[in-house]
Amino acid sequence: MRPSLYLAGFQARTFHGPGRKLCAMALPRRWEHGDGRVAVAAPFEDDLRAVQATGDLAAYRAACERRWQTFAELGRFERDRFRCVVHADPGPRPTQSPVVDGDTLFCACAALDSPRWKHPCHLEILAPFLVRAGWDVVLWGRRIEWTCPDVFYSPESERAVYADTGETYDPATYGWPNAETT
Ligand SMILES: [Zn+2]
Repeated sequence: MRPSLYLAGFQARTFHGPGRKLCAMALPRRWEHGDGRVAVAAPFEDDLRAVQATGDLAAYRAACERRWQTFAELGRFERDRFRCVVHADPGPRPTQSPVVDGDTLFCACAALDSPRWKHPCHLEILAPFLVRAGWDVVLWGRRIEWTCPDVFYSPESERAVYADTGETYDPATYGWPNAETT
């Protein structure tokens, strides 16, 4: 069984897993620290500030993909190497621990169907990198798996798919606008 990771907004509790709630944000506010923080799952702070200033989502998505491709190549999303920093309470200093089955990575976004939804979510871009590294990802309530949907298996045809429909997962067809249209 692949371990499950839940990706959703901090307030979208129905989409959270049974484990810890780990912050995947570049600039969390005081009340958004959760049980720990996963720095490699957060966007680069400068990229976040750039999209906040320019609104250029396509550039932001590309920058996030470059960042996470680098971490993926370094094996940083692999089980046991994908780590969070936990603030022991009380404790002299933060400690590192592996992200494990049932944990949730959260951001501050609202769900796609929420009236408070304003923009796509970086967790949507992150999801395929985690799926490829061996996690079953439940992204805003929908499970995404790494599999080969073709009749004849080949390693090249493996991809991230929605577990419920078998459709190929692509952030552009989720909340992300196509690069061509932005
Ligand atoms: Zn988000």
